[in-house]
Amino acid sequence: MSITGRFAPSPTGSLHFGSLVAAVGSWLFARAARGRWLVRIEDLDTARVVAGSAEEILAALRLYGLKWDGDVVLQATRTRLYEEALATLSAKGLTYECACSRADVQRAASAQYEEELVYPGTCRDGLNGRVARSIRFRASEEPIFFDDLIRGPIEQTTGGDFVIKRADGAWAYQLAVVVDDADQGINQVVRGGDLLGSTARQIALQSALGFSSPQYAHLPLVVGADGMKLGKREGALSLPALDPPRVRDTLRDALMALGIDAEGEQPREILDSALELFARSRLTARTTVVHNPAKRL
Ligand code: GLU
Repeated sequence: MSITGRFAPSPTGSLHFGSLVAAVGSWLFARAARGRWLVRIEDLDTARVVAGSAEEILAALRLYGLKWDGDVVLQATRTRLYEEALATLSAKGLTYECACSRADVQRAASAQYEEELVYPGTCRDGLNGRVARSIRFRASEEPIFFDDLIRGPIEQTTGGDFVIKRADGAWAYQLAVVVDDADQGINQVVRGGDLLGSTARQIALQSALGFSSPQYAHLPLVVGADGMKLGKREGALSLPALDPPRVRDTLRDALMALGIDAEGEQPREILDSALELFARSRLTARTTVVHNPAKRL
């Protein structure tokens, strides 16, 4: 099978160390299989998009020697595809309008944390005179199984009916990512461990839309010394355009986060060394790695 992988950053700021790890990890998996590696800019959440950051992320990828195939795809230009997918799901009776705000769901679900919010199905059978805000996918409660290339067999539930078109009119990440991965022929999704919990929802949408599911691999989540996900500031990488030693160290640190101690000075050399090591070893199966930038300078 020929592999097509991808890196799908959200342009919400400069390339972050955690995203560089995802970029390098997905690049390695695709290139080690002599596959294609595509880049897609996930710019649907316009409130979070930072002007100029897509260009900055692409410039950073070039600087780190990560060459992509084909043209960069911008989600903002692909509304028609998402509309078609919504129409397909609706024709199958798999969507409904929902009037609940986040606060309503929180109250009804009495969850302590946002990630634990399971939609209790308030609008499943109608709006009862309330005004529609979002559109939800009618998800089955059956667990979903998949075999993660790094983490092994996983059983996961979708966590209830989830939003595919948001109250602000934006297409939800879950729908867009599934539609784009299928449209771009992506059959290998390698990404940060923070997205592991989205996988069942994406597989549920793929099967409802008649798409085959890609292979998944969830990389370790990069955390700070305090064990928390790297904050925006902590992980921010300014574009070290004129500073080859920093490019080298940052790239080697990103590979080190994956358990690959690559050698070399130039990005090309470092990536070649990483590919060779990757072919001979398994990536770290740890769920988190601590960001510990080398002080080599
Ligand atoms: N755009 C998402 C992010 O930057 C990644 C989506 C994915 O890899 O599925 O977190």
